Amino acid sequence: MQSQTPITESAYRSPEEYNGDRLAVLRREMEYLNTIGKRFVAAFDRFQVHRALLAALQDLYSFSACSILLKGERGEPFELSIIPRYPLSVLFLQAMIQRIARAASIIDFPSVTPEELAVAAYLDAPDELALLDPNASVGGSEIGDFLNIPLTVENRIIGMLSLFDEREGAFDTELLQLTTMIADYAAVALENVRLRERETALWRDAELERRRLELVISSMAEGLLITNAHGAITSMNRSAQQLFAQTEVDLKLEQELPLRKLATVNQADWLQEFAWIIDQALLGQTVTNQELIVGESGETVPLTLSVSAAPLHDKSLSQARPIGVVAVLNDITTNKQIEKLKDEFVSVVSHELRTPLTAIKGYAQHLVRRLERRLREARNTQHKSVLPATEPPESYDLRSLHIVQSQAEHLERLVNDLLDLSRVQWGQLHLHYTLFHLADVLAAHVRSAQASAEQHSIQLDLQVQNSTIVADELRVGQVIGNILDNAVRYSPQGGQVLVRLQEQADIYTVSVIDEGIGVSSEYLDHIFERFYRVRNAASRQYSGIGLGLYVARAIVEGHGGHIGFSSNQGLGSTFYFTLPREPRS
Ligand code: ADP
Repeated sequence: MQSQTPITESAYRSPEEYNGDRLAVLRREMEYLNTIGKRFVAAFDRFQVHRALLAALQDLYSFSACSILLKGERGEPFELSIIPRYPLSVLFLQAMIQRIARAASIIDFPSVTPEELAVAAYLDAPDELALLDPNASVGGSEIGDFLNIPLTVENRIIGMLSLFDEREGAFDTELLQLTTMIADYAAVALENVRLRERETALWRDAELERRRLELVISSMAEGLLITNAHGAITSMNRSAQQLFAQTEVDLKLEQELPLRKLATVNQADWLQEFAWIIDQALLGQTVTNQELIVGESGETVPLTLSVSAAPLHDKSLSQARPIGVVAVLNDITTNKQIEKLKDEFVSVVSHELRTPLTAIKGYAQHLVRRLERRLREARNTQHKSVLPATEPPESYDLRSLHIVQSQAEHLERLVNDLLDLSRVQWGQLHLHYTLFHLADVLAAHVRSAQASAEQHSIQLDLQVQNSTIVADELRVGQVIGNILDNAVRYSPQGGQVLVRLQEQADIYTVSVIDEGIGVSSEYLDHIFERFYRVRNAASRQYSGIGLGLYVARAIVEGHGGHIGFSSNQGLGSTFYFTLPREPRS
């Protein structure tokens, strides 16, 4: 059946109407193209493009239906829209799809089967058709004539326009050029719609991401603030506002003022430090976990923040200067309070332990002396007796008392380490400088270590002529004792321990070299931390509380020296420290 729709108010008229007046024809064609061009430009979505196309084609031809096959995007291989001019029979539609599939395989299109197309097909009926009964089929089932025109944008085929009619020879080839122009308009309009849709989807995604990020930032327990390129705060999350609300400085009111200027105006020390952190980040550095005491200095534990800051770079700008800084603030006041309580507890307990310890040691020594006297007397009596010698009960008691004594000494060392820890914590590790020979102190410690370490051979290697030094003799001895004790303890198979003394440019270096279990390099940064102990299969069996090296470092550094080690796991370690011959002012 042929279309009954009249071509009303057609913008196009046959050239004959102008009696061969070429110029008039051309002008008319231009006006016509202009009219339909405007329709395509105004089309906002693909359905409006379809309407504009249908209207333009209706001006040229009488046809049953047109279709637009588009190359798909993102997982959708094809998009087929069929736009009928009047209700069509299912057979006619099927025949259309067959033809479209065949034509598509000829032009530059990924191969597509009629079945695949049938699934993807979308029937876009004009409004007046959409109101009709969808099952009503008016048209016939045969295709008389059809026309396929590639849809191109900038020489790229994006799809295909097809026209179908029941009549044979329905499509006048003379109008082909004009139809191709219309197809080009439609192609550009469809591509624009596609770009707009993609852009809208991207905006939606970006907006969603922005809102999600905003939610994360606002619900963060950490404070977060962002500055501009001049170091002025531009935004803060709720946690940051709450943190700063506890200070006397109102950061919110002074938003456009760079922090370093704000620091000068407010004269708050912490603000100076904070401005410095932000400035570092603005220079491109990342600052991590800087402690900032924000609260009043009079408080027992003032509000303390741990601040990390990183530069913000705009990748689209070639310049290397950051466009701002993002800083994260962690309130660590509670940790500081706990730490303080722990330190106080350790300090009090170790002081309290010293009194009973002194008593235990004193009475044990008193008992040892008494037992030794009794034993001497018992031996003298036995000497005179003719009976066979038996072991007096006092000798068992004496052995037990020696154990009590050595355990009390061990406990005393632990308590002393704990007391030293408190002294270091409170900055009260006072050094008493005297002049002495470093070699003598080393020799004394080597002798005493050798006495209790039978498996080891402890050697002293003095590579100096004169070893005079002005330092705290007791404390230096404590460092040597600790390192030597470790060298013996952590070499369970025995072996050699070498204590070496060298001097260069008035700086002494004491090295203790052992053949023990060694320390893996991963512990390098931690081994001098308080209470830090290497926890692996090799070291687990040795007792200790991880304070020896911590205190040793404090003593060495208090003298202006340096302590360190090198080690091969399983082969041994070398612990060394340096001391200046005389204290530097
Ligand atoms: P402690 O020996 O009481 O645990 P230290 O502070 O003296 O505490 O030592 C810290 C840790 O360093 C030890 O637990 C041990 O794992 C390791 N260490 C120290 N000296 C040696 C050594 N000579 N050889 C192997 N490991 C050592």
